[in-house]
Amino acid sequence: MKNYHTHTKRCYHAIDNEEEYIKAAIQSGYTELGFSDHTPWHYDSSFHSTMRMEEDKLDGYIQTLLTLKEKYKNQISIKIGLECEYFEKYIPWLKQILNDYPIDYIILGNHYDETDETGIYFGRPLTKQQLTKYVNSCIKGIETGIYSYLAHPDLAYFDTDDEFYKQEMRRLCCCAKEHDLPLEFNLLGYKTHRQYPNETFLRIAKEVGNKIIIGTDAHESSALLDMQTYQYAKQYIENLGLELTEEIRFLR
Ligand SMILES: [Zn+2]
Ligand SMILES: [Zn+2]
Repeated sequence: MKNYHTHTKRCYHAIDNEEEYIKAAIQSGYTELGFSDHTPWHYDSSFHSTMRMEEDKLDGYIQTLLTLKEKYKNQISIKIGLECEYFEKYIPWLKQILNDYPIDYIILGNHYDETDETGIYFGRPLTKQQLTKYVNSCIKGIETGIYSYLAHPDLAYFDTDDEFYKQEMRRLCCCAKEHDLPLEFNLLGYKTHRQYPNETFLRIAKEVGNKIIIGTDAHESSALLDMQTYQYAKQYIENLGLELTEEIRFLR
């Protein structure tokens, strides 16, 4: 069992440190645990995000994980990652970070339009135009080839019965399929009854033939101990006839 969607208290809206997540994962029988805390961004403006680690904390995050990876190497495989938006103007900075640090993978969590300095959050009710922007930016992100999977692909908040929603989500699913990029079934959203994961989206993914990966999106270490939610989710996904995977592409 593997999970690549794990936060830490470094992003200010999660609790517990890296080692507590590792201990929980070992207890539950995970063989591989990937950390994907919210990436910092090197903003042009003086904007200060309160939902991601500070830029100067990135080094400590990586160093801590390298130390723990070694410490627990006989019990669990640890992968170092980040959850990153697709902020087009900051992608060169991100690529430099991926080059400079031993980061194994990044997942695409497309939370905001363009950049969170100015853009709206995609998880709130969207207009048609905003939904299209969500899908377009997901597609551009996927096409960079740097992301290993798309987190909560169905984050965009829109009437899921609307034909326009289905058309746009089909476009997104087709792009992911073309790039053989797994789509996440987000366990946090499932457990807390958010608008995602939603069944309309999953049925489209089934038709398109996407691979689905379960992501815990753990914001507390106990999330990795909740095997009941995991098993319910797995059963639900299988009942819908979707193909589950645990394999992602790594950067190195
Ligand atoms: Zn996210
Ligand atoms: Zn997350």
